[in-house]
Amino acid sequence: TATATAGAPGRVPEDLPQRIQHYIDGQFVDSVDGDTFDVLDPVTNETYVQAAAGKKADIDRAVAAARRAFTEGPWPRMLPRERSRVLHRIADIVESRDARLAAMESYDSGLPITQALGQARRAAENFRFFADLIVAQADDTFKVPGRQINYVNRKPIGVAGLITPWNTPFMLESWKLGPALATGNTVVLKPAEFTPLSASLWAGIFEEAGLPQGVFNLVNGLGEDAGDALVKHPDVPLISFTGESSTGQLIFGNAAPYLKGLSMELGGKSPAVVFADADLDAAVDATIFGVFSLNGERCTAGSRILVQRDIYADFVERYAAQAKRVVVGYPHDPATEVGSLVHPEHYDKVMSYIEIGKTEARLVAGGGRAKGFDTGNFVAPTVFVDVKPDARIFQEEIFGPVVAITPFDTDEEALALANGVKYGLAAYVWTNDLKRAHNFAQAIEAGMVWLNSNNVRDLRTPFGGVKASGLGHEGGYRSIDFYTDQQAVHITL
Ligand code: NAD
Repeated sequence: TATATAGAPGRVPEDLPQRIQHYIDGQFVDSVDGDTFDVLDPVTNETYVQAAAGKKADIDRAVAAARRAFTEGPWPRMLPRERSRVLHRIADIVESRDARLAAMESYDSGLPITQALGQARRAAENFRFFADLIVAQADDTFKVPGRQINYVNRKPIGVAGLITPWNTPFMLESWKLGPALATGNTVVLKPAEFTPLSASLWAGIFEEAGLPQGVFNLVNGLGEDAGDALVKHPDVPLISFTGESSTGQLIFGNAAPYLKGLSMELGGKSPAVVFADADLDAAVDATIFGVFSLNGERCTAGSRILVQRDIYADFVERYAAQAKRVVVGYPHDPATEVGSLVHPEHYDKVMSYIEIGKTEARLVAGGGRAKGFDTGNFVAPTVFVDVKPDARIFQEEIFGPVVAITPFDTDEEALALANGVKYGLAAYVWTNDLKRAHNFAQAIEAGMVWLNSNNVRDLRTPFGGVKASGLGHEGGYRSIDFYTDQQAVHITL
């Protein structure tokens, strides 16, 4: 069974911090009121560290520091090349410590260590990418012969508020920090309360890389306290948020009186559509990975698989067999493919959906706690088949290792099923018919579509969802656009 020493040796990183503090104006500090909250080890669900619980007073201090660094400090005024050098140093440091970062992330979040390692490398790549992009940035200039010259003066906006979720926290923080900093803004980051460990490492990395004081500020705490105060702070003109759709709705409303710039990356219930003419081996492998990697705690998870009737029985049989072979294990074990879910509250939510699923559909794999793990948040990879489109497990985001499989007959039916949910983040299409692939992909209501492939993406492409999955796309120059004002200057000749 899982105890504090379960899976030892090596399960618990040796250099865990004694406590997790805020980082404001270049100093590690506690909350003004001294309050803290418990951070749990997801294998034992025991408290392993206390983190500072930020409130409005802490957000006020952090925003004041960020504002000072923006109005008086060098960062917004530096040449893009100079900022780029700092960002490349950040990428170098992250890369050189990828194993330690991954160990911390895996311990705090329950993600399998091999997958956490990939996320640490991706975090470095995010910094490198925006460091390069900002140097290559060109802006529009238009000439009206004999009359006018018009040009774009691109400027950083000010203090960006960054609010991030607990799934792949370090990587998702880098996805916001990279472009926000590259463009010359200063930031206040409010990381998810379930997973504050890796976020606390940014401060040391940034200091070492030479980021000026006050440019990066970190306030830990609950969403309804620290997050809420950041959203409602009048000196924070931008909020970049990743999290649940319902939280996004709340933030929209709270930011409305201030008319803030908002970037919203929200939930998903993404379909993987498998046609009878698909390469079945590749489709089974990819759709297994698509929902069970990252513990199923992945915004772009292919959590609904729609399979053409001709191959349905065959697909289901192979899929269930393969799901049963997915290795559930301790997060730090390199053999592990599904680790422990992040937190007991989230485990309870996923388990309640599994119970709902048993009343709605046919269970062919998993269906509860993983065998051999009596404690901790270990869920067996779970497969429901013959799932009806009005079932809750078809409609609602579960965010765990649980998949719903549904048959279809025609392309039209597949499209109606694919689009028949409130979300529209990602979609995956498996077919060897070129025309169908493109027509189907273009008709799907999803911000991102993968044809005969898994979700590997080029960082220049748009990232984001439609419908309840988000507003605004980031990625490449779109991120630069979000974090800058494009002022038009007109000159009469
Ligand atoms: P969440 O919405 O519960 O929390 C996200 C963040 O918002 C946390 O830092 C939280 O403290 C904060 N928060 C909560 N209430 C707040 C409030 N009232 N004001 C301000 N901040 C508040 O989401 P989660 O459970 O941490 O993350 C999982 C969700 O994130 C899933 O729905 C997943 O699909 C989504 N997600 C989306 C993407 C994407 O790119 N589209 C990526 C990863 C995760």
